[in-house]
Amino acid sequence: MFFNCASPSCGRLGYKWISDVRRARKNGCLLFCSQACSGDAHRIEGTDEERRARKIAYDAEYRRKNRDHINAGKHIHYLANHDRMLEEQAERRARPGAREQQAAYHHEWIRRPKVKAAKQKYDRRYRAERNYGEFAGAFLALQDLQTEIDSQMTRTEI
Ligand SMILES: [Zn+2]
Repeated sequence: MFFNCASPSCGRLGYKWISDVRRARKNGCLLFCSQACSGDAHRIEGTDEERRARKIAYDAEYRRKNRDHINAGKHIHYLANHDRMLEEQAERRARPGAREQQAAYHHEWIRRPKVKAAKQKYDRRYRAERNYGEFAGAFLALQDLQTEIDSQMTRTEI
């Protein structure tokens, strides 16, 4: 049976068995003349970055919506595998040179710019809270203000 290709850029006539066409129409499916047309019609729009951003947003929303379900699954996995994972961890740590290898990886890790920046931010907040307690926020604001003033003019101008 002939049908019109559902791809917007094609629209040519295609041919399939009559039962295939009727089944597709009954189930509300689209019919295409070729795999290329089907691929065109199902193509996901946007550049790699846009698609990545959409996926990140979708994943965050999915985790927010299904948090209880995800955490329950993690807990089941934890209960089922905890002993085995502890044994594997002990074996890994007992291997000769494992500590040195882990230390090298850690040193590599903390030198990454993103990790370094986060650590500096954390340390600044930690020291402020240790030294000024509940006034830590005020101290940090003052420090930011002084940094801003220093960047605008020299000491002699002040
Ligand atoms: Zn087509």
